[in-house]
Order: sequence, then structure tokens, then C-alpha cells
Amino acid sequence: MNRRDFLAGAATGLVVGGAGAYALGPRAKGRPSAPAVARKKTRHWTMVTTWPEMFPGLGTSAARLAQRITAMSGGELTVKVAAAGTLVAAFGSFDAVAQGSVEMGHAAPYYWQGKSKSFNFFAAVPFGLTAQELSAWIHYGGGQALWDEGYGQFGLKPFLAGNTGVQMGGWFKKEIRSMDDFKGLKMRMPGLGGEVLRRIGATAENLPGGEIFTALTTGRIDATEWVGPWNDLAFGFYKIAKFYYWPGFHEPGTGIECFVNKAKFEALPGHLRAVIATACRAEAEAMLGEFNHRNGTALKTLIARHGVKLRRFPDDVTAAFGKASAQVLGEMEAADDLTRRTYRSFHAFREEALSWSRLSDQGFLDMRHRVLRPKA
Ligand code: CA
Repeated sequence: MNRRDFLAGAATGLVVGGAGAYALGPRAKGRPSAPAVARKKTRHWTMVTTWPEMFPGLGTSAARLAQRITAMSGGELTVKVAAAGTLVAAFGSFDAVAQGSVEMGHAAPYYWQGKSKSFNFFAAVPFGLTAQELSAWIHYGGGQALWDEGYGQFGLKPFLAGNTGVQMGGWFKKEIRSMDDFKGLKMRMPGLGGEVLRRIGATAENLPGGEIFTALTTGRIDATEWVGPWNDLAFGFYKIAKFYYWPGFHEPGTGIECFVNKAKFEALPGHLRAVIATACRAEAEAMLGEFNHRNGTALKTLIARHGVKLRRFPDDVTAAFGKASAQVLGEMEAADDLTRRTYRSFHAFREEALSWSRLSDQGFLDMRHRVLRPKA
């Protein structure tokens, strides 16, 4: 049996053991290496997600990750995606994987902040890390060990598997001219960003994506954040709210995760563990690239075709966001031991990033803009 036959057999689930291999046909006969190859165990795993099926950027990335793992393993580990609500409800995926009823999950770590506030740091926190910085902290700055410790308590092994890049500040029906315009404003914003809004006098609501448009239309909310131009255009928020603010203080680069049942992960042979880790790392790069490309294209459409008005938050609003964010994050010092250690690790990394990113990414981007768009 040659390699192509083996892959074809694996893809159709025929290679399940020594005996099954002979169903592949007479070409397997007389090849001494065939039985050894054919005896490789084929595993069929399921990945539950918090996204609707093929949801742009996130559901599509989960599907690509599943395909990557299946292909890289040569069919030894096939992964099938089960979108939110098909096997388990969106926010049931953490528990489903922890209990081992399915093997993998795809989500954003801050969805599980009810289990530990430390999990916010692996997704996004107000005035936190950009996509590149988050990757640097997780892979090189001690983040992964803290994440492993936190998820390990629930029987899970987490991997960084994507990033949305910088998110937008959100859609507002009325222009924001000063801090006063935030008093009593009802805005959809989940997580710690929502807590920051409450501290500055707004009302923050956490609505699932599918309910935001209706809530804006009926006046239940006055404003909403979602992701960025690509996803926001698809939801049609521009039809209700014309002012589109930038940038988002609350999600400067949201980390997306793949988590695996820890016992099942550790029971895999080394090469399949490496396949999962490497596929996640590759998909993390792919997702960020796709978001950056499609956001740029969608931004043009929003402005040229839909008359969206771009606005930057006024300085006093930005300052208030900053002050309240420092307060909210600072309270992590009084949280449980793991959250405190995670916060301290994040904080030390961010201090370094403030110095280095200022000179590198920020320094270059400022310079490029001054030279290429001097009047904008
Ligand atoms: Ca968001």
C-alpha cells in the first residue's frame, strides 16, 4: 500500500486496525511495511465551538483548524466541527470538553471568566495587549504556564489559536462629544470593558451577537461594540447607528483559543500532540491575517457605500476609559492567587511592551502615516 492509498483509506475511516487494512485491496499484499502502517489507530474527534456554523473569521477559522489537524495527522486524527447549539449550547462547550463528552473546543477565553477572572488575560482586557504582544506574552513571557495552570484545574489544555486584531470602539446613534454623553448611555459591551463603562456612568449589557441588531433597533441599547468592519458590516449596524468610533480600548487584540480535554490530549502519541500544537499556531497566524485583510476592505465599503461616519473618541473620554480600566484591572490584586499572579505577569509584560512597542510598531506606524498621509 502506498502513502496515497493509506491517506484515502484514513479519510474514509477504513484504516481502523490490522484487519481493516486488508479491505483496502490487493495492492497491500506483498509489501512488508504495509501492516505496520495500517495498524495505526485512527481517532475521530469533535470540536465544539461558541460560534454559529462558518461564522466569518471565527467559525471559519475553527473549520480550518479542524482541517489542518486532520491533514497534518495524515488522517490519524480527524476533527469534525460542531457549531454552537448543534451538540452543546455555545457557552456549554468549556464544560462539555472538561467532562470529556467531546474532545476539543473553540472559543474566546474571556467567555469563561466566571470560572476564573485570570482567563480574561488570555483573550483581551481593557488597555491590554495587541495581537503580537499577546502572542509574545503567551509563548515567551510566561502566559502559557499560567493558562495551563488555570485550565488544568478543569482538566483542559489550552492553545492560542487565533486573534481578531484591534477591535473597533463601536457603533453609536449619537455623536460622543464629551464624557457627559456616556452618562446613562446603554451600550452592549461584555466582560471587563463593560465593567469599565459602568464605572463611567453608562449601562453595559452583554448580549449575544444575534440579538444586538434588534436591541439597537428597538432602543433597548443606544450603542454597541462587536468586532471590526468585516463582522460589523455583515450585521448591518450601520443601518441604525451611523457613528463608528475607533479604536476600541476594550479589545486591543482578542485571543481565540482551542482547548482540549487534558487526559485525552496527554494520551495521544507525541507526534499527534505536536500536530495539534502546530496547527493551532499556524491557524493563529492565518486568522489574524484574514481579519486584517477583510477589515480593510469592509471599512472602505462602510464609508463609500453606507455613509458611515468615523469618529475618534474625545480625549476626556479616552482618559476616563484609561482611569476606570486601571481601577478594574488593579482589583485583580485582591482576587484569588492565580488571578493575582496572572495579572502581575501580564502587567510586567505590558510595562516592557509600553517601551518596546512605542519604538517599534507604534513608532513605525506613526512615521509611515506622517509620510504617506500627512494631512489626514
Ligand atoms: Ca468585541
